[in-house]
Formats: sequence, structure tokens, C-alpha cells
Amino acid sequence: MTELRLHDTLAREKRVFVPADPGRVTMYACGPTVYNRAHIGNARPAVVFDVLARFLRHRYGAEAVVYARNVTDVDDKIIEAARNEGVDPETVAARYEAFYDSDMGALGVEKPELTPHATHNIPEMVAMIARLVASGHAYEADGHVLFYVPSDPDYGILGKRDRDAMIAGARVEVASYKKDPADFVLWKPSPPDMIGWESPWGRGRPGWHIECSAMIERHLGETIDIHGGGLDLIFPHHENEIAQSRCAHRGAPLARYWVHNGFLSMAGGEKMSKSLGNVITVGELLEQGHKGETLRLALLSAHYRQPLEWSGSLIAQSKATLDRLYRAGGDSAVGEVDPGVLGALADDLNTPLALSRLAAIDDAGVLRGSAALLGLLEGSHESWFRGEGDARVDALIAARADAKNRRDFAEADRIRAELAEEGIVLEDSAQGTIWRRA
Ligand code: AMP
Ligand code: ZN
Repeated sequence: MTELRLHDTLAREKRVFVPADPGRVTMYACGPTVYNRAHIGNARPAVVFDVLARFLRHRYGAEAVVYARNVTDVDDKIIEAARNEGVDPETVAARYEAFYDSDMGALGVEKPELTPHATHNIPEMVAMIARLVASGHAYEADGHVLFYVPSDPDYGILGKRDRDAMIAGARVEVASYKKDPADFVLWKPSPPDMIGWESPWGRGRPGWHIECSAMIERHLGETIDIHGGGLDLIFPHHENEIAQSRCAHRGAPLARYWVHNGFLSMAGGEKMSKSLGNVITVGELLEQGHKGETLRLALLSAHYRQPLEWSGSLIAQSKATLDRLYRAGGDSAVGEVDPGVLGALADDLNTPLALSRLAAIDDAGVLRGSAALLGLLEGSHESWFRGEGDARVDALIAARADAKNRRDFAEADRIRAELAEEGIVLEDSAQGTIWRRA
């Protein structure tokens, strides 16, 4: 049986993955804050952890894997977006969650087994905060509840950076009510006209970090097998999750393996991020006519821990690779998984190696079976090529209409003749031009 090895951020090395219970393998990845459209960098963790979940389901059986990806549906950025639009935060959150689902669906990301929502888990957060207060790990100040970092001697184990550097690097908010500058918010007050819930500390809303700790406890248990997210979540988010959960669970660790994906950047190497303004959304890429599967393959073309530079040529190469794979896969039934592809994925999810091994498979069924583990080649041969042909025909018809408007009838006739050569017949009517294959 192929052994999975994963790079564990906490151990700083690759470790053989042994689940606590092979009958119930648990994984949690931090999901989107739903206040805008996901950019292609945000899609990287969704695709990476989707591949890991597929691998785990293959290895341990689909019924043995519980993968949870949360939805942060209460957050100051959502509240601000809602205020700017003059609508409820719920409206903003529901809209962008629907966009997220359809964007990730287009990228072939399977729905995780669980998608817990912050707003559906408030009592669990309140209960966890109350336990932290009772045990001296948290305190109330100025309507807020804060985690008291000096109460946790192990604080900082994930990043292993010195405390002051961490605080300076992450621009931790300085507030007069904090006992220690590293303390972070578990609960904050909401004025009457803002979204909020009753709590022992008054009406308010949760901080971001407590959300994941409480949802993991409720849905997966005190200690999970794998916790994932992007590199930027190591500090402060995951460091704070670890501290809260460990202190609320008498020292039990939050996760046994920590897996973090590297950044996707734009040309020049700068991380794609909304605050830098260098983003391209999944929606924009799809509107440009790129297929979701092409974008997925582009995201998997680099090892997940390495940086990935996004570019037009990466997209073009990925499309050409899929053209070749669809030609080779034909419409064969899904066969066995190739041991070479499985072995590449088992080695810390080495997707570039898996893709090169995929290209060398000559049995069409094995190719499709192996590609499925990467979430590729799941459509039919016909639909892969037809969609693209149709788009080209539509583009030529538009060019012909444009030529006619310019009274360039020679060009219009040339386009009609070019399509006729391919067996495509145009019929003009008052409503426009329709086409069919002769
Ligand atoms: P956010 O909505 O900013 O919380 O991000 C959602 C997820 O996307 C987190 O796991 C981030 O670490 C990840 N992420 C954000 N930007 C990038 C990027 N440029 N490359 C890779 N992952 C990213
Ligand atoms: Zn989280």
C-alpha cells in the first residue's frame, strides 16, 4: 500500500501520514471570507486540498474521510461591504458564497464533506471562550474578550519566530485594553444596529480565529489529522487557533499534521492579493473563455509548497496539455490508477511529477482513472473539443457581422467560405446568424 508523506509545517519536515483512526480521517482547511469574488490565488488552496481529499478518499475509502472547509460569513470586511451597499451582511455573504461555490465547481473542486458556517456555530464559540475565561487563558476588557497570550507557554510553536518579531511583522493591532500587545480578540461588542449575538459579555460577534477552533471541536473533534491553508495563515491565524484549542482542551493538540500551500503571484513575483490590487478573479478568467479545467491544471503545475507565477503562457501550456490528454484518453471508461501517478502524489502531493507521469501513460482507461485522482479528464472527449470549436465559430460569425457592418463584403464572404470548408453552414435572419454542421 502506498504510504503518504506530507510536509508538516510544525515538524518542519516530511512525515509519514498515519491517521489517528483510519476509519475516520479528519481534515480541515480554512475557507473563504465571503465578501468578494475569489481570485485565482484564493483558488490554489481549494484545489490543493481537494486533491489531498481525493487522495485520502482513494487510500482510506470515501466513507472514511471527513474534510471540512468553513465559510466565514460574519466578519468586519463583510459588514463593511454590506454597509457600503446598504444591504444586510447576510445578503453579501450569501451572494459571495454562491459565487465561490460556482467558481470552485468550475475548477472541478468537489464539495467537502462538511462546510460549517461561522454564524451557525456561535453557541459553540461562546462556550469555548467561556472555558478559556474560566481557566485564566482569556479575560474581558472594555466589552471585548481577549486571549491572554502570556498564559500559554507554548505560544508560537508553529511559526517558531520570536514573539516581538511576530507582532511587528503581522502588524498586530495595538489597543489600550490589551494586557499584552500579542493578545488577540475572541469576542467583540456589536452596537445595536450591527449583526450580533447575546453572550455573557454582552451583545457581540466572534473574532476570526475562535471560529475555526470552535467549528473543528464541534464537527471533527479535539484533535484532527490534517489542518491546511495558505502560507499567510500560519501567523497569526493558525498560531492563534492552536493556542485557543490547546488551552481549551487540557493540552490536546489541534492537528497532527499542518499543511500550507505557497503563494500564487503575478509576473514579478508579488503575491496576488486584494490589498496589492494585482488580482485576477476566477470569474474573470472564465469569462475570458478559459475552461475551469485548464485553470485547475495550471494551479497543479507547480508543487503546492512552491511559489507559482500566473501568466498567459501558463494558461496556454495547460490548455495544450489537456488537448493532448483528452486526445489520448478518448472516451474510455475510467480504469485503474497508475502506480507511478499514485506514488508521485503520495510523496507530499508532487503534482508536477504526477502530471508528467500521466502524460506517459498509454492505456486510455488507466489515464482517465489516474487523472481522476487529480480531478482532471472527468468530462467527455467530445465536450472538451466541442465547446472550444463552438467558441471559435461564434467568434468568426461575430467577425463576419463586423465586416458586413464595415461594408467589407470581401472579408465577410471569405469568413463564410472558411466555415463552409469545415462543413459549417450559416443562415442569416433578422435575428442574426445561426449555424449548423452540414
Ligand atoms: P482569504 O480569503 O484572504 O482569507 O484567503 C483564502 C485562502 O486563500 C487562504 O487559505 C489564503 O492563505 C489563500 N491565499 C490568499 N492569497 C493567496 C495567494 N496569492 N496564493 C495562494 N494562496 C492564497
Ligand atoms: Zn482557520
